[in-house]
Amino acid sequence: MTMAAETLEENKATVELREEMDTRCRLNPDYASRIGNFGFIELEETWGDEATILNTARISTTNRRLAGLADFTQRDRDLLHHLLVHNHGTPFETVYCRWRIIAPIFVLRQWMRHRICSYNEFSQRYREPITAFYLPDDAARSIDGFQVLDDAQLQRYRELMEGLHRFYRDEYARVCQRLETAERAGEIPAVAGGRNPYRARARELLRNAMPVATYSDLYWTINFRSLMNFFDLRLKPDAQFEIRQFATVAHAMFKRRFPLLGETMDRVLAGEAGS
Ligand SMILES: Cc1cc2nc3c(=O)[nH]c(=O)nc-3n(C[C@H](O)[C@H](O)[C@H](O)COP(=O)(O)OP(=O)(O)OC[C@H]3O[C@@H](n4cnc5c(N)ncnc54)[C@H](O)[C@@H]3O)c2cc1C
Repeated sequence: MTMAAETLEENKATVELREEMDTRCRLNPDYASRIGNFGFIELEETWGDEATILNTARISTTNRRLAGLADFTQRDRDLLHHLLVHNHGTPFETVYCRWRIIAPIFVLRQWMRHRICSYNEFSQRYREPITAFYLPDDAARSIDGFQVLDDAQLQRYRELMEGLHRFYRDEYARVCQRLETAERAGEIPAVAGGRNPYRARARELLRNAMPVATYSDLYWTINFRSLMNFFDLRLKPDAQFEIRQFATVAHAMFKRRFPLLGETMDRVLAGEAGS
């Protein structure tokens, strides 16, 4: 069978997400970006800034307060660096970011190991899975020009993923048909509106067949201290390629939004000693 005949049709959730990602990239080009074949990240909202950090820290020492970055003297910049180098942690917990992330489940599984933050994720209990799954591009499947996964293997991988998604689609359609028949026959009560427990149970069971390459969608809210730890761990070459791709884009967005804090963070992560 040819690839064209095999191509999996996108379901409603997937079509809607694709449109949403395109819209967000158009409306917020500096802070929204596509990654890989269906990935996406957006820095949606932030709270606090470099001034918040110093104002919080200075509660211990002075009544001097800064209105914003424009007020910063070299002394303020040095203090920011000093505090970060010497692990004066809590002032750095006053700056928050909320991100929207659409990534394969295997990436999000690594991401969720970061516990000092908050997540809210797309539910395969309430909705059918996103039909998009991760397809590694040439850079993702090669090391030093050598294709670790060759074209024939990629084709088999793709067919397997599509087969699993087709399995879900067909079995779920069968469940829905059987439920309608059973309802008409009075074997089960008709569910008018709201959550249908029979369909929900079917989704709960059928989602077990979904591969970790399936894309999911979540909100991630995190303070700067914990975000810096994420960057420290996930930008390093030993982090897996795919999460590193996301971390790299997130890092660039963060630095665009908080130039001084971003630069200070990078100096500290690079091991620059403090005063
Ligand atoms: C390259 C790489 C390989 C990895 N391999 C594996 C692996 O094989 N298996 C595996 O299970 N994980 C693995 N991990 C995940 C790793 O162990 C961490 O769980 C993950 O990176 C989150 O880091 P974190 O705990 O610092 O972050 P967070 O959970 O966000 O925690 C932030 C900080 O809060 C503090 N903290 C949080 N919770 C506690 C606690 N319960 N007790 C004390 N202090 C706490 C710590 O100081 C921590 O650094 C890997 C991570 C990387 C980057």
